[in-house]
Amino acid sequence: MQPATQTHPPHFTRPGVSRPRAVVIGAGFGGLSMGIRLGSMGYDTTIVEALDAPGGRALQREQDGFRFDMGPTVITVPHFIEELLALRRDEPRLDDPDFDAAVLEDASQVRAGGPAGPATARYCKLVPILPFYRIAWEDGTVFDYDGDPASTRAQIAALAPEDLDGYDRFSTDAEAIFRRGFLELGHTHFGTVGAMLSVVPDLLRLDAVRTLFGFTKRYFQSDKMRQVFSFETLLVGGNPLTVPAIYAMIHFVEKTWGIHYVIGGTFALVQAFARKHAELGGTLRLNAPVERILVEQTKRGRRAMGVRLRSGEEILADVVVSNADYATTYRHLLKEQPRFWNSDRRVEGMRWSMSLFVLYFGFRARPGEQLPLAHHNILLGPRYEALLGDIFDRRVLAEDFSQYLHVPSLTDPSMAPPGHHAAYTLIPVPNKGGVGGYIDWSQEGPALAQRVLQYLDERGWIPDLRERLVTQFHITPDYFERELGAYLGNGFGVAPTLTQSAFFRPHNRCPDLPGLYLVGASAQPGAGTPSVMMSAKMTARLIQEDFAAHAAGLSQRAEAVAH
Ligand SMILES: Cc1cc2nc3c(=O)[nH]c(=O)nc-3n(C[C@H](O)[C@H](O)[C@H](O)COP(=O)(O)OP(=O)(O)OC[C@H]3O[C@@H](n4cnc5c(N)ncnc54)[C@H](O)[C@@H]3O)c2cc1C
Repeated sequence: MQPATQTHPPHFTRPGVSRPRAVVIGAGFGGLSMGIRLGSMGYDTTIVEALDAPGGRALQREQDGFRFDMGPTVITVPHFIEELLALRRDEPRLDDPDFDAAVLEDASQVRAGGPAGPATARYCKLVPILPFYRIAWEDGTVFDYDGDPASTRAQIAALAPEDLDGYDRFSTDAEAIFRRGFLELGHTHFGTVGAMLSVVPDLLRLDAVRTLFGFTKRYFQSDKMRQVFSFETLLVGGNPLTVPAIYAMIHFVEKTWGIHYVIGGTFALVQAFARKHAELGGTLRLNAPVERILVEQTKRGRRAMGVRLRSGEEILADVVVSNADYATTYRHLLKEQPRFWNSDRRVEGMRWSMSLFVLYFGFRARPGEQLPLAHHNILLGPRYEALLGDIFDRRVLAEDFSQYLHVPSLTDPSMAPPGHHAAYTLIPVPNKGGVGGYIDWSQEGPALAQRVLQYLDERGWIPDLRERLVTQFHITPDYFERELGAYLGNGFGVAPTLTQSAFFRPHNRCPDLPGLYLVGASAQPGAGTPSVMMSAKMTARLIQEDFAAHAAGLSQRAEAVAH
């Protein structure tokens, strides 16, 4: 157990400064988690955010009395939230098994409808959602997935009884992947080839390097079950046809700790993190786009020394962490700096995750009406593999679509005016790179919005939707590119392929510039709100390690001088 109070780490470069200073570029979930971690490690931390609100992809927009979460809606792994919100100033708790166990115990009760962990409860109201997803096909069949093995078996028996045995085998093997890949290795930063090679035998033994869709084919004969047990990676930007089967762990992560919703929307969690960061002494500066990472030349080489804002103001720091897009960080913020590992060529040569079309809409409810929808719905179109090919390989906008439809007002009426519902529907679309035809979203966006509204209306998901519609707006790849600085309008950062995972994914400690670190969806381990919280913990450990090494170097030098 670490001492309740420990002296803060020695600063790198500026004797006389009472506490070391850190600056974090970007206030997405990754940047806010990092700010909280750095506060707990004793840093004076400033988060600088380009936009006028924190949250990044998790912004919320209000329109005509409706509140729309613009990004993440499926909240998983509640103990990661509890852990961050339970931290205190000067108590990093980075390697404290007792603390971890207590947090896990406190937070896991919410899975069974119990209270959220005590720290979480101080900041926001987290509630479990059941079923996790309603998955529907065009032939009218429906699968309510809730993570409970008995009810999952009953659903499989109704739709694909030939796959019951396969489900049992899938569960056993996916659990083994979850145990090794998430519980044991989840927070491992793969900074060396050796670290990577040491886990290869395990990955091969677990068959986790085959594609996820190929993996599900080993267990399920029916197309429907293959889809049910592979679509979840789309929610973190991964193509089920190409992501490695290690992502089968998502299924088990959800099954183990449930799926949750924050009353007031995911943005209430953003606000909770921002408040926690402030309580740990941090400063959040909005409307403060960073133009450059400042670099100083010391006797021991170059190192990051702060940031310059577009306004010209400079903020000096001992540690700089970028939560901005990987491409933005290297191609723009370090534009003139020599880079070996993260050259423009490497950045541009990476595969980038798909983009998204998201339609946000509010509509009148009818008295006593029971919509055939759950809180989270996956409405699959007529094609699965071929549609994924259109999005990820051919990069064309298909006529048909599959969608994730989210109706938070079914759980939380505060998201819409009385007598109304708030909803969003998300459709994976190609990003703006590659070989496909140019898509003019100013034309295609409104047309796609009409097609989607018509589909939901005519298929009976929301009867007479177009007559009942009160408000709507949509975002396209242009939004991701322009508003969030996402390269090629990517929705989820660097794509999670086998050759862009672990060691091959951008490193959280910049190998080109000491003092610079990365956090968030493009860094290790990857995209999704729990992953970017993990990313912050991994980066915090690296910073702690580097400080320890630096402090050891200082004392050695002091001893040498004394002798
Ligand atoms: C529509 C959608 C739905 C999703 N659904 C889910 C879900 O249900 N569950 C889930 O777990 N995940 C989901 N995700 C993924 C998840 O939202 C992201 O992986 C995660 O929020 C990314 O957080 P981040 O901190 O890495 O990046 P971001 O949220 O993108 O934050 C980066 C921040 O950096 C700022 N920034 C960039 N450049 C600069 C600069 N030069 N100066 C200052 N600031 C800068 C940006 O403005 C932004 O605020 C979804 C994503 C989207 C888009």
